Amino acid sequence: MNGPQSALRRRSGIGLTSSRARQRLAEQLQRRGIRSQEVLEQIRRAPRHLFIDEALERYAYQDNALPIGAGQTISQPYVVALMTQALLMDEDGRMRRPGKVLEVGSGSGYQTAILAPLVRRLFAIERIRSLLESARPLLRELGCENVRLRHGDGAQGWPGQAPFDGILVAAAAAAVPETLLNQLAPGGRLVMPVGVPSRQELLRIERSDDGEVRETLAPVAFVPLLPGQE
Ligand code: SAH
Repeated sequence: MNGPQSALRRRSGIGLTSSRARQRLAEQLQRRGIRSQEVLEQIRRAPRHLFIDEALERYAYQDNALPIGAGQTISQPYVVALMTQALLMDEDGRMRRPGKVLEVGSGSGYQTAILAPLVRRLFAIERIRSLLESARPLLRELGCENVRLRHGDGAQGWPGQAPFDGILVAAAAAAVPETLLNQLAPGGRLVMPVGVPSRQELLRIERSDDGEVRETLAPVAFVPLLPGQE
């Protein structure tokens, strides 16, 4: 089906892409251990079906990664929620509202759309231009006005905007790039998958005046952090 009606339906979502499907996804993530009501609210709100190819949209609200072209994937909703919660929630359950956050590997823009309403300003970098060019108009349409997107190598960070109160990296490396750690403000947090392809852990680093605290949060499977841009 083509034409304006299908465009409208695609936007609001029906059946497998409806708000009920998003509600069920949020419930599922809560059962898996996502505690932040603010994060769950964003999962209920964000139209994930718009971030993927129309041919796959019936799978949009299943808790799986999906291909988005250029050999990349839209992250699994549970992992998006877990990373967002790890970045923003304190031990006592309270949510931080960081001033400036850097996202490396924005891909489809879904994680960007989940994170943007929970922070003041979000700076997102993606190394594949075609993905960035699809994400940009969609994020604008969804009203994410506090987001700046840049095409480039996120391992270099965004020196002109550093330091950041939070850094979220959606691609894995053997170790956290020193350049990114250096762009973290005191009290700030970095969340990133670290390891080899068959064995990665989600790592959280919190920087303090006299050092840093490192915690591993969960085993994960991410695409690699690659140098350069395309
Ligand atoms: N969270 C996003 C994408 C996850 S896939 C989503 O849900 O859609 C990881 C993304 O990181 C891919 O789009 C990949 O191109 C990007 N990436 C890998 N290395 C990068 C780098 N050095 N700088 C910026 N982006 C990078």
